[in-house]
This record gives sequence, C-alpha cells and structure tokens, in this order.
Amino acid sequence: MRRRRFIELSALSLTLAGLYLKTMVPAVHHRLHALIFDLGAGMGARELVPDPELLPVRGQVVVAVNPGLTDFFVGEGSDAGEVTYLFPHGATVVLGGTQQAGATVTRPDPATAADILARCAAVQPRLAGARVLAHRVGLRPVRPQVRLEAQAGSDGRFVVHNYGHGGAGVTLSWGCAQDVAREVGRLLGSAAGGV
Ligand SMILES: Cc1cc2nc3c(=O)[nH]c(=O)nc-3n(C[C@H](O)[C@H](O)[C@H](O)COP(=O)(O)OP(=O)(O)OC[C@H]3O[C@@H](n4cnc5c(N)ncnc54)[C@H](O)[C@@H]3O)c2cc1C
Repeated sequence: MRRRRFIELSALSLTLAGLYLKTMVPAVHHRLHALIFDLGAGMGARELVPDPELLPVRGQVVVAVNPGLTDFFVGEGSDAGEVTYLFPHGATVVLGGTQQAGATVTRPDPATAADILARCAAVQPRLAGARVLAHRVGLRPVRPQVRLEAQAGSDGRFVVHNYGHGGAGVTLSWGCAQDVAREVGRLLGSAAGGV
C-alpha cells in the first residue's frame, strides 16, 4: 500500500514537473537548449574539462564469500598505499584495499589481491581461505576540493561541474545532486528572468 502511494506521489511529481516545463520552456527555450549539465564524469573530467588538478587514486578490492561476518572493520595499512578494511554485505564480503596515488591500471593485480586477503585474514581469521568471487579495481577521482559550480562558456552554454569526490562520492552523492539541481534551477531562473 505504501509502495503504491509512493509510486502515485512520484507520478504526480513528474506530471507537475512536466506541466511546469511546458509552461516555462517556451519562455526559456532559446537558453534552455544551450545548457549542458555535467552530472559527473569522475576521472573522465581530467580530459573532458580539462582539469589537471584531478588525480586518480587506485583502489583494488576482493569480493569473497562471507563466512558469517556482521561487523565491518577499517584500519590503516603499514604503508600509505594500503588501507585494510572488510565490509560484510550479506552473503558476500568486500575486502580491501589499496589507495595508490597516480596509478591508473584498472586490471586487478594478483599479488595485491593476495596481500589484501592476507591482511584481512590477519584482522579476521575467519576469512582465511574464504572463497574469492571477484576482483575489482576503481580509480577514485581525487581533487584538493570537490568542484561543484556552473561555468559559462564563451558561446553562452553552461556546464554544471560535479566531480572530484575522491573516495567519498557515494556518500556525498545525495547532497551534491541537490546542489546541482539548485544550480540548474538558478540558471533556468536567470534564463527566464532574462527574456
Ligand atoms: C575501491 C574504492 C572504494 C570506494 N569506497 C567508497 C565508499 O566506501 N564510500 C564512498 O562514498 N565512496 C567510495 N568510493 C568513491 C566513489 O566510488 C567515487 O567517489 C564515485 O564513484 C565518484 O562518482 P562520479 O559519479 O563522480 O564518478 P564515476 O562513478 O567514476 O562515474 C563517472 C561516469 O562517467 C563516465 N564517463 C567518464 N568520462 C566520460 C566521457 N568522456 N564520456 C561519457 N561518459 C564518461 C564513466 O564511464 C562513469 O560511468 C570508492 C572508490 C573506490 C575506487
């Protein structure tokens, strides 16, 4: 029942948004078509923007069968490029990891995976011999600070930048999405006001 109500409310919101756009679009059309929304290209922004301040910090993890763990653990490794953590996700557990500044190889390294398994088993002995399901690598898009702002191009177009979240992009995504929406609203508002 609550799910149905949620769907109805979502549909209502979309309808209202559609009506709003139908009313607003003729007024702002000549500016609206010129807006570009960059909703986050991650490391791709380094070339797209371009932005040399954006640097990759490589992370490798191992996904294994969860031997029944319910508590997570996060601890520093012995070297700056290591961070040891384990996050149970029901039937599986994510074991980490690395934070290798400047490294761009997205292929999992077997020696690193073995090291991650050994470090995690040292923290939680029940992980020794855990069946490995997958190896994953990602590049954290690190910047001295997140870039979330509109930039006007010389041709009257706008880019709303939203990148550089480093190792916290999932956590920050809701707040940043709201800020992007606010920025887009501000641009649409000034476009409407300017006609
Ligand atoms: C091992 C690891 C562990 C992490 N753990 C956490 C965590 O616990 N909590 C947390 O909050 N964050 C964590 N992060 C960080 C998080 O994953 C990132 O901050 C987040 O993914 C950044 O989001 P984004 O949308 O900016 O970039 P991305 O997720 O990289 O998405 C960018 C998208 O843009 C696309 N793209 C790029 N260039 C182009 C182009 N030229 N044209 C078209 N498309 C393009 C890409 O294909 C991709 O789909 C972790 C990262 C790693 C690697």
